[in-house]
Amino acid sequence: MQQQSNLKPDTSANDEMASIGASVQHIRIKPGKPLAEQPEIGHNRWHPDIPELTSVRPGDEIVLECLDFLDSQIKDTDSANDVRDVDLTRAHPLTGPVHVEGAEPGDLLVVDLLDISCVTPVGFSGIFAKENGGGFLVEHFPEANKAIWDLRGRYATSRHIPGVRVGAMLHPGLIGTLPSQDLLNEWNRREAILADKGQARPPHPDTAVLRGVNGADFDRMAAEAARTVPPREHGGNLDIKNLTVGSRIYFPVYVKGAGLSLGDLHFSQGDGEISFCGAIEMDGAAHLGFDLIKGGMAKYNVTAPIYVPGIHDVRYDEWLSFTGISVEDGVNHYLDATVAYRRACLAAIDYISSVTDLTKPQVYMLLTAAPVEGRYGGVVDLPNASASISIPTRIFDVDILPQDLVAGPASYGRPGVEMTLS
Ligand code: ZN
Repeated sequence: MQQQSNLKPDTSANDEMASIGASVQHIRIKPGKPLAEQPEIGHNRWHPDIPELTSVRPGDEIVLECLDFLDSQIKDTDSANDVRDVDLTRAHPLTGPVHVEGAEPGDLLVVDLLDISCVTPVGFSGIFAKENGGGFLVEHFPEANKAIWDLRGRYATSRHIPGVRVGAMLHPGLIGTLPSQDLLNEWNRREAILADKGQARPPHPDTAVLRGVNGADFDRMAAEAARTVPPREHGGNLDIKNLTVGSRIYFPVYVKGAGLSLGDLHFSQGDGEISFCGAIEMDGAAHLGFDLIKGGMAKYNVTAPIYVPGIHDVRYDEWLSFTGISVEDGVNHYLDATVAYRRACLAAIDYISSVTDLTKPQVYMLLTAAPVEGRYGGVVDLPNASASISIPTRIFDVDILPQDLVAGPASYGRPGVEMTLS
């Protein structure tokens, strides 16, 4: 059992906001400290009975600071031993839940992502070891690795991935509402079947943090509280890079007050977050606005979050795309878009490591961190699905396009660049 303090978090109003009229609640974290040492700010499991962190009304705003998704275990060093030895059961420290006055089951909670910023100007990406976490390309990259990023305003650079500068695509990897007891029971029922095969993570009370819960209540709740790793019907760990600043998200409400929590803030991420050890992970602050649509779930037939993507993200004008099909090791994987995407990622890593000074592990970490676009082509052209991954060429110091064309570069100009004829 874990004893937790029931201290009030630091909710001092943001001075800058106060000076322009409205007093906006600002929940602060202590960067570098694990959630267990500041349990008043949130939780790292999902359960309907977690007491509210604070309360807002429709029309209110709030600023919530969040710890990085690995709970301050990754340090600004040149060793990847912290990634290799990480305790994954401490993911994800979430800030919340925020109670929204008037929200009832069946409503839609409207959340506007008004702004996101870093709390400390350092981020990380990594590769989990095969024995502890793994990732999408684990059979090709079984060893732990790490890249520390310097977050410079709207750009990130890394001494561990030189020759690259990545533009900001700020978004929450994880944001969701509290499940009802019925929904939690359903998650546990269906995931237990997979957990027996090692394909899902069952409840793990040892490292659970449930703000404001102690004693017998903690024991009861922690034994059934859901891990935060998978996305589910309430949102959760969606890892959608296009939930950038300016997005509006409509969440199903499953409990009175909705109970919104978030964490795992990303400076940027590639589609698929392929290494699993993150995007560009950071301690961050999210400025949120709230509204409600009464009875919205039935009115609009919504049972999972829907959203309008934000527009305050980096926009690149030239891409190099790599294709993959669902054929691996001489076997057709029938219309398997996941295999096709894996082949596209491996093709990108082979190519980019050949035209830059980067090693393959460095490129793997770049593809999880930079705002690369993943797309499915056909998922009907049996037997093969097709997928592509597109890399913004402008993130590199060097020109990564294929060179030495026989007819010369001048015949049609550079592809993707419009020529003005005078
Ligand atoms: Zn993340």
